[in-house]
Amino acid sequence: MTNQQPVPYRAESDPAWNTVAAGTAHVILHPAEKSPEVIVVSGPCPRCTHETVHTEPLVSYAGALGTSGLLGRLLHRRAVEAGSREVEVICACRATHPEAGEHQGCGASWVLHVEWSDQ
Ligand SMILES: [Zn+2]
Ligand SMILES: [Zn+2]
Repeated sequence: MTNQQPVPYRAESDPAWNTVAAGTAHVILHPAEKSPEVIVVSGPCPRCTHETVHTEPLVSYAGALGTSGLLGRLLHRRAVEAGSREVEVICACRATHPEAGEHQGCGASWVLHVEWSDQ
C-alpha cells in the first residue's frame, strides 16, 4: 500500500471491498467448525488496510428468546447445523482516522460470506 495519507473517517461501503475482503479475511469458527456459536473475522480493512477484528454471535438470538419457544428452537437448530451467514464487518481498527470523532475505525463496512458444514 503506497498511500501513506491517513484515510478520513467515512461511514460507507463499497461492493468492491466485499471482494477484496473475501481474499484477505481470516475466519475462525468457535467453538468448532461443526457447530459454530461465534464467527470471528480478522484481517486488513479493505479501505484503510489496518488490521481489524469482528465478532459475530450466531446463537445469541436463541439465548435471548429462551430455547423453549419454537422460534428459539429453530434458531438454535440453525446455528448448530451446516449453514452460511452474510457477516457484516465494520472497520474497528485501532488507528486514528481524521474526522472519526468518537467512532472507532475508518467507517468502512463490508459483507463477508461465511459457510460451514456439519461434516
Ligand atoms: Zn478501515
Ligand atoms: Zn484504519
